Amino acid sequence: RKISGGRRYKMTQKKPVYKRVVLKMSGEVLQGKKGYGIDPEVTCSIAEEIKDVKKLGTEIAIVIGGGNIYRGSTASGQGVDRTTADYMGMLATVINGLALQDSLEKAGVFTRVQTAIDMQELAEPYIRRKAIRHLEKNRVVIFVAGTGNPYFSTDTAASLRAIELGAAGKHTFPCTAVYAADPAHVNWYQPESLTRQFILTMAPGREAFTTPGAASDAYLRKMPLLNLRSHSVLALCFMAAISDEKER
Ligand code: UDP
Repeated sequence: RKISGGRRYKMTQKKPVYKRVVLKMSGEVLQGKKGYGIDPEVTCSIAEEIKDVKKLGTEIAIVIGGGNIYRGSTASGQGVDRTTADYMGMLATVINGLALQDSLEKAGVFTRVQTAIDMQELAEPYIRRKAIRHLEKNRVVIFVAGTGNPYFSTDTAASLRAIELGAAGKHTFPCTAVYAADPAHVNWYQPESLTRQFILTMAPGREAFTTPGAASDAYLRKMPLLNLRSHSVLALCFMAAISDEKER
């Protein structure tokens, strides 16, 4: 590529480290500086970054959260029935998923939305083998409605999807740190604690966060689970995904 000043830089051809990644994106990522809801500028710029990574040949699945619109635990603290509040939270992830799909398609990236709660007019139901097929066909698959069950979070959904889809993965690297708490309480789980044992946290007022058991370690390692809390982290995570295998 020719840069201003006339010097010519050769782009080093980087091979993607990961054949397939599951990207867990917190809902807050989409709200940008607005503090609530969805900022179309943010979804568009995320879409562009995802497009760049896709060009490297990495298959991308996204699990999107809903905390920018509705959080079950918060609402239940305000008197809403917890189960109802959680379903409302899951619906919030559907709104986010559709927004992301719109931006990705506008950027020229083919997508499919798969939902854990049936709503056939909007999205396909989650079918593992179909999701894999979409990824193989170069489509970004956006998973919405979390696990489809109240009392869980989209982090759980991301762990599940990573294991389910990771079986087809080629590489065996430990996953990156996973942010697994309400963004208000910053808490990065180390990969070791994530993969060593089944963690089930059902502290009052918080969604359960489950991670795959030891038996699933091998699968999870085949599929990095990257969790984005802020837009700037996106670049970092993707850098990890594209860094040269030999450099690691
Ligand atoms: N949720 C749920 N079950 C799931 C996933 C999500 O009940 O499997 C609900 C829960 O109420 C949660 C809300 O959906 O507060 C939004 O998801 P999450 O908090 O994981 O979103 P994020 O923090 O990633 O934006």
